[in-house]
Amino acid sequence: MNKHLNIYNTHISPNASTYVNEVLQSTFISEGKKVKEFEDKLNTYLRIQNPLALNSGTTALHLALDVAGIKEGDEVILPAQTFVATGLVILQQKAKPVFADINYQDGNISLESIKQKITSKTKAIICVHWGGYPCDLKEINALAKQHNILVIEDAAHALGATHNNQAIGCISDYTCFSFQAIKHVTTGDGGALAIKDKTKFKEAFSKRWFGIDRNTATPTELGERSYNIEQLGYKYHLNDYAAALGLANLENFKERLLHRKNIIDLYNAHLNKITGIQLFQYKNDRESANWLYGFHVEDRSNFIRKLKEHQITASVIHQRIDRNSVFGGLTKNLINQQKFDNSQIHIPIHDAISIEDAEYIIDLIKRGW
Ligand SMILES: *Cc1c(COP(=O)(O)O)cnc(C)c1O
Repeated sequence: MNKHLNIYNTHISPNASTYVNEVLQSTFISEGKKVKEFEDKLNTYLRIQNPLALNSGTTALHLALDVAGIKEGDEVILPAQTFVATGLVILQQKAKPVFADINYQDGNISLESIKQKITSKTKAIICVHWGGYPCDLKEINALAKQHNILVIEDAAHALGATHNNQAIGCISDYTCFSFQAIKHVTTGDGGALAIKDKTKFKEAFSKRWFGIDRNTATPTELGERSYNIEQLGYKYHLNDYAAALGLANLENFKERLLHRKNIIDLYNAHLNKITGIQLFQYKNDRESANWLYGFHVEDRSNFIRKLKEHQITASVIHQRIDRNSVFGGLTKNLINQQKFDNSQIHIPIHDAISIEDAEYIIDLIKRGW
């Protein structure tokens, strides 16, 4: 095989250019009926509750914190095992990120560690579904309720995942999705925020467009819309040409998820028996969106090198984000995080990986590194 197997890919549906072109031809490219159609589809097809389409996953996280009322002096608990966006939005609100430990076996935030990090200043917990595998949402939500804390899910990896047969996007107070180029479903850049509370939903709806409610602020006789901005808003909405791309990419999303699952089943069945590899351990009360395929490996540098020699990318994803000085220095005593950092590795899983590719990768790993 001389094809290069990348760790990520960008999936563009064959219908995408037609749908996007229709929007371009219409010359109405900003937020309009395609955005609404995209939101409706997220709801009917994936059971995401009250999804608001936005221009990135990061803005979804930021808007969630904003309408949740997170402000200076508040503490927000999060894992360091994530992409920097999860932590930066907390700083944008001038609140304090408090890093909790993770579970070594799956990379998700640890319930026990959250318990230890809760103080009187804690206002929210952001949990990240690592690689698409849902966190312990039942326990986390119960704990949060007990302490009057909000739960915000960073579900950037978890579009289409379920927990106790409930869709990710209808469980916690806030759920944030990303439609960035390499995520499951892309709109180029884009995101969605699902909000349970109807009042908060309305607030977020207006704040995604400067704080103006597009539904009620209609043009007057003078031509301009009539509005009075009472609360600081943002320019966070999605546009119709991006929504058209998203609609095309959503069309056979469940079949694509199944393809990922088949490949992962194959990986698991074979890599399970290999000395030097320890698979992540998953519970069967939840279904991962399988955005990533990771495990623990011994002698990691040689493993990466060996696969690279055969045009296959194996990669660490991501290094703990508290290593960035903007967060004020490494959090001490994140024991599992440290262990996870030392041995985690991820190998290719995406739409362009065929069963044959997966078999090739498995054979190669079986030969040793
Ligand atoms: C991709 C990603 C984000 C940010 O999403 P964007 O759409 O790129 O802004 C946030 N959190 C995690 C865990 C991600 O993987």
